[in-house]
Amino acid sequence: MTAFTERFGADGLRSVSNQKMKPYAHHHNPSTGASCGAPNNTPRYPDRVDALTIERDCLPRCWHCGAAMRPLLTAVDRNRRVSEATFSYHRCADCGVISLSPVPADLGRYYPADYIDLKQDPEGRARRTAAERYKLDLVLRFARRGRLLEIGPGAGGFLELAHSAGFEVEAVEQDEACCRYIETVLAARTYCTTDPVSALDQAARYDVITLWHSLEHLIHPGAMLAAAAGALTPGGVVLVATPNPTALQFRVLRSRWTHLDAPRHLHLIPPAVVREHAARFGLNRCTLTFTDEGTRNWNAFGWRNSVRNAAPPTLADPWGTIGGAIGRLLKPVERRSTRASTYTAILKR
Ligand SMILES: [Zn+2]
Repeated sequence: MTAFTERFGADGLRSVSNQKMKPYAHHHNPSTGASCGAPNNTPRYPDRVDALTIERDCLPRCWHCGAAMRPLLTAVDRNRRVSEATFSYHRCADCGVISLSPVPADLGRYYPADYIDLKQDPEGRARRTAAERYKLDLVLRFARRGRLLEIGPGAGGFLELAHSAGFEVEAVEQDEACCRYIETVLAARTYCTTDPVSALDQAARYDVITLWHSLEHLIHPGAMLAAAAGALTPGGVVLVATPNPTALQFRVLRSRWTHLDAPRHLHLIPPAVVREHAARFGLNRCTLTFTDEGTRNWNAFGWRNSVRNAAPPTLADPWGTIGGAIGRLLKPVERRSTRASTYTAILKR
């Protein structure tokens, strides 16, 4: 199977028909996706039926299709262990979107100072940048030159490669140290903000917009896709790489799955939803890949790190080795459509 056999209309994905689409709920809270809060006409002492109604109305609503979301699982921060708090994920029964609700008010706390490695020693930097080469190769299959915007570039390895390949690069990033770093090293314009959707509204037009594992971190992924569509030049392309909630790893590991990354990953978005949501904003052509180099690396990392994180600290290394062996055994299964731990969607008009 080639990397691009998963194509719009023939990808074997569970499709969600337009007839099932519901309008956004009128209780929808755009800041959290939740629809909590009793209606104004709630009796002071509701009977059992009213109480059930209120409980139903307090469930979060899906940002994609508006349906009520049901509790799916709770998880702790296994990757960074910032706190011992428990986080609740809900799943939309209609379209399969999984969202964290409520989103912690102190979300910034879960991105510690060392979240992004800005090591400047040339060797480490070269190694880190080389590991992102596959992203540029993917972009070059769809665009050869022009203005490129990355949402969430971190240390800017991919931006550096894109810049070297002749793209005019810019970035939207919430981490101030990363913004300074990118401005200094690449002399690239950065929009340093926690509101990337508004930043895109003000920005110029781009031939390429990339979201390498950043969409799942955003409070409003649907608005982000809309804003990206609006910020494209006529022949432009949006690339979205994100964890895959239909992954084999998630089915097996559930709350222990390292790519759940509670509470930093706010949404796990099925590939069909990215495709449908982007189409609402004119990005009707979607190519999906579940076999690109990034995904293959995330497959291996997923098993190794999930098993390692589940071990007592003194046994982390041997458990990580066992996780790596499990990953090698399951490699053929994960390379089958929709089973991979992540995917990349390439979206065009
Ligand atoms: Zn939904």
